Formats: sequence, structure tokens, C-alpha cells
Amino acid sequence: MRAVAGTDLGVHSPRWLSRFGDGTRLADRYRHGRVLLAGDAAHVHPPTGGQGLNLGLQDAVNLGWKLAAEVSGGAPAGLLDSYERERRPVAADVLDNTRAQMELVSPQPGPRAVRRLLAELMDLEGVTRHLVEKVIATDVRYDLGDAHPLLGRRLPDVGLGHGGSLYGLMHEGHGVLLDHTGRLSVAGWTDRVRRAVGNGTQPDRPPAVLARPDGHVAWVGEEQRSLDDALAVRFGAPHA
Ligand SMILES: Cc1cc2nc3c(=O)[nH]c(=O)nc-3n(C[C@H](O)[C@H](O)[C@H](O)COP(=O)(O)OP(=O)(O)OC[C@H]3O[C@@H](n4cnc5c(N)ncnc54)[C@H](O)[C@@H]3O)c2cc1C
Repeated sequence: MRAVAGTDLGVHSPRWLSRFGDGTRLADRYRHGRVLLAGDAAHVHPPTGGQGLNLGLQDAVNLGWKLAAEVSGGAPAGLLDSYERERRPVAADVLDNTRAQMELVSPQPGPRAVRRLLAELMDLEGVTRHLVEKVIATDVRYDLGDAHPLLGRRLPDVGLGHGGSLYGLMHEGHGVLLDHTGRLSVAGWTDRVRRAVGNGTQPDRPPAVLARPDGHVAWVGEEQRSLDDALAVRFGAPHA
């Protein structure tokens, strides 16, 4: 402790000592047939930034509804394989930022100089925002198209007219169409997607947004035909 922190902090008489090393690793694959990895089984890294639990939970939330769709039939082709495609790069990024943080705790002059420089940079709001969004994972964006900046990002919670909230509607594990136009329909997918009517269109928000059960935006628009196409691609064929 004296070598790393410059003080022993007054600790003494340990009851138990154990070694704690950096075993950073990322599984090459998240899926092998019927075996799927999530959480620490898929990725391990130092606990700097307190990111491991969140990372694992987000794996589970990404995977859960895809597994359910696969098991109950009607999942669109490739849905289950999108789990690894979406989640493995997120873990690789966490491994990168925890590795970088571990470099910064070194007492060597080089890393200490980088730490001072980074501390200066963190006075800039844009840098702080970038780092905070990385650590709390609100910067995660899956590749669900680039027609709108919200696509692939997690939709923030919003209040709904009747006192409920968007996230409240998502507790059932369904997708949600947040429809500010009041004229769109999810007929054909009512077993998988709920519709919430927003508070009317406004210039600063999209007319309608379709969120997957994990809250990530799968479609933004206002035309029924375009919505139906997106529903079929993301949730499978419509029911009879
Ligand atoms: C010192 C330390 C500090 C941390 N601090 C933070 C923090 O501040 N914030 C944060 O977000 N994360 C933190 N983490 C990381 C976080 O604890 C893990 O990322 C998280 O617990 C992983 O959850 P998991 O369910 O994937 O795995 P685990 O919690 O490891 O759960 C796996 C479970 O499977 C069981 N198991 C294993 N083999 C078998 C078997 N064959 N049969 C049945 N059961 C089995 C194990 O007993 C265990 O209960 C920290 C980790 C450490 C080590």
C-alpha cells in the first residue's frame, strides 16, 4: 500500500490476505450452438469504474428477449446471432477502458504524468461527458442503421399521458412503439409489441420510435409501411 498509495492508511493485523491480479480476458465467441456466454463468463476485467455488473446485466437483457423469441418460434433469421455481434464489442471497449485505468494507477513517472494530463482534460465538459457515458454505458449504440441518430441507442424513459412511464410498459419484455402521431398501428405484432401514444408531435423529437424489449431504438419514422417493414425485420412475421 505504501508503494502504490504512498501510505499504509493505518491498516494492520489482517485476518485474511489473498492475491488479486489482472486476469483481463474476453471470450472469442459468445455462442457455440446451444451454449451462450454472458456476464463474467464472457468477459473479465479489473473492477475499476464499477462496470462489470452493469456489463453482464446488459448482456442478459440483450440476450433474454432474443432467446424467448427463438424458443417461442417466429424469431427473425439471425436474431440470436446478433447477441454476440452487439455485445462483444461493448465488452472489448470496457476491457480497453479498464486496461487504460490500470495503467494510470501505476506509481511510475510516465503513467503519473499521463494521469495529470488526463485530470486536466477532465476539466473540459466534453471529455468528462465522453468518459462518464463510456463508464455508465449510455454511449452504447448497436448497428441498427444510420438513418437517424437515435437508431441503436437506448431510449431514455419518458412519462406517458396516463401517469405511467415508457420503462413501466417494458417490464413485460415486449417491444414498445412510442407513437407521438397517434395514428400508427402495431396490428399483427400485438403479441410482441405494445403501443404507447405520446403527447403529440413536436419539432425537437421524432414522430414515432420503436424500441426493442432491451430499450434500444430499432426504428424512427412516421409512415406505417416503413414501420411494418421494421417490425417484420426486428420482431419476425406478423401473426394471423
Ligand atoms: C473485487 C471486485 C470488485 C468489484 N466491484 C464491482 C463494482 O463496484 N461494480 C460492478 O458493476 N462490478 C464490480 N465487480 C464485478 C462484478 O462483481 C461481476 O462483474 C459480476 O458479479 C459478474 O456476475 P456474473 O453473474 O456474470 O458472475 P458471478 O457473479 O461470478 O456469478 C456466477 C455464479 O455461478 C456460480 N457457478 C460457477 N460455476 C458453477 C457451476 N458449475 N454450477 C453452478 N453454479 C456455478 C458461481 O458460484 C457464481 O455464483 C467487482 C468484482 C470484483 C472481483
